[in-house]
This record gives sequence, C-alpha cells and structure tokens, in this order.
Amino acid sequence: MPGPQKARAIVLSSRPLGEADRIVRLFTRELGRADAVVKGVRKTTSRWGGRLEPFNVVDLLLHPGRSLYTVTQAQLVDVFARLRTEREGLSAAAIVCEAAAGLTPEHEPEERMFALLRNTLRELDKGISGRAVESPLVLGALLKLLYEAGYLPVLDHCAACGSGGRALGFSAARGGLVCGDCAGEAVPITPEAVEALADAVSRSLADLRERPSSPAAGEALRDVHRLYAYQTGSRLRALRIAGVG
Ligand SMILES: [Zn+2]
Repeated sequence: MPGPQKARAIVLSSRPLGEADRIVRLFTRELGRADAVVKGVRKTTSRWGGRLEPFNVVDLLLHPGRSLYTVTQAQLVDVFARLRTEREGLSAAAIVCEAAAGLTPEHEPEERMFALLRNTLRELDKGISGRAVESPLVLGALLKLLYEAGYLPVLDHCAACGSGGRALGFSAARGGLVCGDCAGEAVPITPEAVEALADAVSRSLADLRERPSSPAAGEALRDVHRLYAYQTGSRLRALRIAGVG
C-alpha cells in the first residue's frame, strides 16, 4: 500500500460516521475526487476545529486505507467566510460543488477543474445579488464544469441538424439548442435564456458575478441541469433544495 500523500483539497461535503467521526468528500488537486475519514471530528474537544467544514480549501495529509483515506493532518488555505453567512451564497456553493463531484471520476487528477471550483468559490465569497438559482455566476460555473468534463452544450447551431436557424428549444438528448424544425420533444427556450447561455460561456466568472440574477439565467440553468442529469444519470440535490425541481 502506498504511503501517506499530501494533497490540496476543497471539502465538497461531509456526513457523520459512527459516534465521533465524519466522512468528507474531497476534490483534490493531486488525486481528483476522493473520500476520507476524519476521526474524532464530532467530539466537542476535537482538535480539528472547523478546518474540515464544506467549501474550505485545505492542505491535507492523507493515509490510504482499503477503501477510504484517513485525514491525519489539515492546514487551512482558504476559508470563504462571507459565503458562509449568506444563504444564497451557500446554496450556490453547494450546487457547484455537487456538480463538480458528479462530473468527475474518483482518483483522477483534475487540476483545471480544481482551479475552476476554487475560483468559483472565491467569486461567490465576494457576494451574489439575488437568488443562487437565477445567478449568471452559477450558470457560468456549471457550464465551465460541463466543458471540462466534455459535455458543453451546443449553442452556436442546431444540435440536431446543424443549421444556423433560430434556437427554439433545448434538448438534453441532442446536447444543446435545437431549431424549430428539430424542436420535437425539446423544451421550448426563450431568446433571453439563449442569450444567458451564450453570455455564461463567453464571460469570465468575475464578469458573471457582476451581472444581476435574472429569470432568463434561471431558465438557462434549468436547461443546463437537464443536460447534466442526462449525462450523469443523477439530478443535483442542492438545486432541488434551492427550489428547482
Ligand atoms: Zn435543427
């Protein structure tokens, strides 16, 4: 069995294990997605403090076990303190982190995805106005994650017939926008949502954070979520909790 490994990780989520421990789901720069046990973290006298809370960036020492790593050291790198105090910021972080987990296999290094996720949390920590599920930043982060995973939707022509006709629908099965002739079973889409999608792909995360939340971004996010669900076979729980079915 290999020895202990150092890794820089974003804590995606955490769940209790037994009386005193937790399992943390990590997105690491060096090992990709990985789950690890943190012993004693739920005791009131825990030496871990809040270091392994979701959305923190930490430098870890991980001991490999049969199926899980065990965290033996943790040093804080980033705490997104403001994000933690804002309900919509927390919702947004949960949506993006769950999507990153769903789009990446375990134990494969994903440096670009790691950087993208960390940058997204940094932008979210500067504050978003309006609802997470109508946020251009959340939409943009999801699209950029899909791009890294190889699932960016087709937005510049009809995903079914290739024509440049006006987009009238969004089809998860076809992988993007479709024209009127191909709209068949696609979900109808408004011109505003088409524009929100194009914007979210072409603009930086910092730029998207400055744009106001809008129903069009919300509609586009629901379409992108359809594509995510089609490709991964699972729907985002965090999105349902935030109010999108
Ligand atoms: Zn078509």
